[in-house]
Amino acid sequence: MSLFRSTAIACPTCGADIAFDECDSVNADRRPDLREAILDGTFQTVPCPDCGEIVRMEPQFNYLEVGAGLWIAVFPGRMMPDYIEVEDAITEVFETSYGSRALPSAREIGEGLDVRLVFGWPALVEKLVLRAAGLDDTTVELLKLDLMRRLPQADMGPGRELRVTSVEGDALNFAWILTEQEVPMNGFAADRTLYDAIDEAPEAWAPIRAQLADGPFVDMQKLFMGEGRAAAE
Ligand SMILES: [Zn+2]
Repeated sequence: MSLFRSTAIACPTCGADIAFDECDSVNADRRPDLREAILDGTFQTVPCPDCGEIVRMEPQFNYLEVGAGLWIAVFPGRMMPDYIEVEDAITEVFETSYGSRALPSAREIGEGLDVRLVFGWPALVEKLVLRAAGLDDTTVELLKLDLMRRLPQADMGPGRELRVTSVEGDALNFAWILTEQEVPMNGFAADRTLYDAIDEAPEAWAPIRAQLADGPFVDMQKLFMGEGRAAAE
């Protein structure tokens, strides 16, 4: 089921109250229109009735697409530094809904789902785009690390992220994005052969792949945020 809650938010431009149906969960198998709206950037947006400014809600919901084998917990970009706590919380939610504590029928569905945690709208779009293109998201995170070594102007770090925005043929289109503002900056395309080269050298990439995949937040950003899960436990 896709769930919405009526709420009101203040327009960041003029301060007017805007009535809003805030999303708690998206079932993309039943509501493919919501998936499309996520991809085209219109989901959870509304024009302010007073000043006309387009206002977008911060994302905080669960996304389910059984057909694509995806269960994604979506949180606001500003919460990324707390990813370990959020990972633990959403793992509990998944275990209750589709995992070890769920009903057998739900557990059966859960076995076909990859669990992911993302922060911000661009990160959610990226996961959907990659899955639709048949690309492994962990390999794409390794590709980002590889690209950063090749790009002389690369300036990675907390608050600034690299996201795939679309895949066209053999081209993966990337954009630099400011995490909290979700402002896209310059972009570039990377050839699929760079992705394939990583896929074909599993041993060289194994240690860092393991680090990226040690929880549902499969994102190279975590490498810039402290010592990670191993140190936290
Ligand atoms: Zn307004």
